[in-house]
Amino acid sequence: MSADPSVAHRAAAILADSRPVTTQAAALYLDLHAHPELSGAERRTAGQLAAWLAHDRLRVVRDVGGHGVVGVLENGPGPSVLLRAELDALPVAERTGLPYASTVTGIDPDGRPVPVAHACGHDLHLAALAGAARLLAGARDRWRGTLLVVGQPAEETLYGARAMLDDGLYQRFGRPDAVLAQHTAPIPAGMVAHGAGAMLAGSRTFEVVIHGRGGHVATPHLTVDPIAAAAGVILRSQAIVAREAAPGEPAVVSVGSVRAGSRSNIVPDEARLDVTLRALRPDLLDRLAAALDRIVRAECAAAGCTEPPELRVVAESPVTEPDPALTAAVRAGHEELLGTSRVTTWPPSLATEDFPYFATDGVPVAYWMLGSVGPRQWSAGRAGGERGAGPAVIPGNHSPRFAPQLAGTLSTGIAALVTAALTRLGPGAPPD
Ligand SMILES: [Zn+2]
Ligand SMILES: [Zn+2]
Repeated sequence: MSADPSVAHRAAAILADSRPVTTQAAALYLDLHAHPELSGAERRTAGQLAAWLAHDRLRVVRDVGGHGVVGVLENGPGPSVLLRAELDALPVAERTGLPYASTVTGIDPDGRPVPVAHACGHDLHLAALAGAARLLAGARDRWRGTLLVVGQPAEETLYGARAMLDDGLYQRFGRPDAVLAQHTAPIPAGMVAHGAGAMLAGSRTFEVVIHGRGGHVATPHLTVDPIAAAAGVILRSQAIVAREAAPGEPAVVSVGSVRAGSRSNIVPDEARLDVTLRALRPDLLDRLAAALDRIVRAECAAAGCTEPPELRVVAESPVTEPDPALTAAVRAGHEELLGTSRVTTWPPSLATEDFPYFATDGVPVAYWMLGSVGPRQWSAGRAGGERGAGPAVIPGNHSPRFAPQLAGTLSTGIAALVTAALTRLGPGAPPD
């Protein structure tokens, strides 16, 4: 036997006959896309993934941290590699016009019916994960070690990764030597993009409650108007980024929801705001949070609120900063398999993820972006850019019109995962 073949060489051998599996994974994608489920309610989606993995004779454990699924494939001594994809969809009314578009309604946490769609591509991540798992399961002579295949619930609420870890993911299934994940992104289908340093922001979402004193609008002097105080918070908080972050340092302060009052002739008792803070450094996130706290308290004092405001952290996520050595190995594998023209560099984004929780206790993680824009959509986007409309012409993640191109995206996603897994899984026994 010659020396160890390269990662890409080993991946290419496994991917050589991948077309039937890709076709099966595409069917799984169409099924998942038409049956999206909200965060925390992913029962059917988890069942589909579990059945797929059981078919490939993985040991499947369900209900890990909610609807989480873990498939275990022990294949001799060697490193353990965890591949992760998300199970959940979003409360979005799909407007892609695709024949397999979602028409599903779910129930939101307040008990209201809402439209649901896979507007973030998690169905595609799952189909790629399933395809990669089937290919690796069918090529057990070509690698050694343990493969952990994880379907994670509740990513969009930034809750599911922690829930799975708190449910003993690493204690029950072993501490992995690498955790790998990918996410669809508005770059051409067929490409992947790796980051250097911080790739995605850390975030903190606050629910702010301002307590006023309700009454008749005709007697404003007898009331404390929480809406006027909330308006002060909204406007003043837009200066936080300009005055707390160094110029050139990305940060976001955004009020995403305002709830107060019922009619024009009533001053309500309270106003509620949902405020999200994002930054690429944890200490800057702390600084933004301190500024928000000061502004809310000061505006309430200025309005004459008799009760102090409440600021509650309702969701948070760490900065996504993949392990440099693992990322370099995965990127090199991708460049060798796909060619350097299909591997690009991801500039830091203020999107966020709960994936970095998997890096707990120093577990190395790698994360890359998976291009999902087809040539027609890409050209239309470029033309829009030339007209000055900018790249927003390409509907991105969370848009009702988000429509990844299945063909090039899925096959690349499967190839990227198989290759990345092989950077840490041991080489198989030489053929007889
Ligand atoms: Zn999302
Ligand atoms: Zn997502």
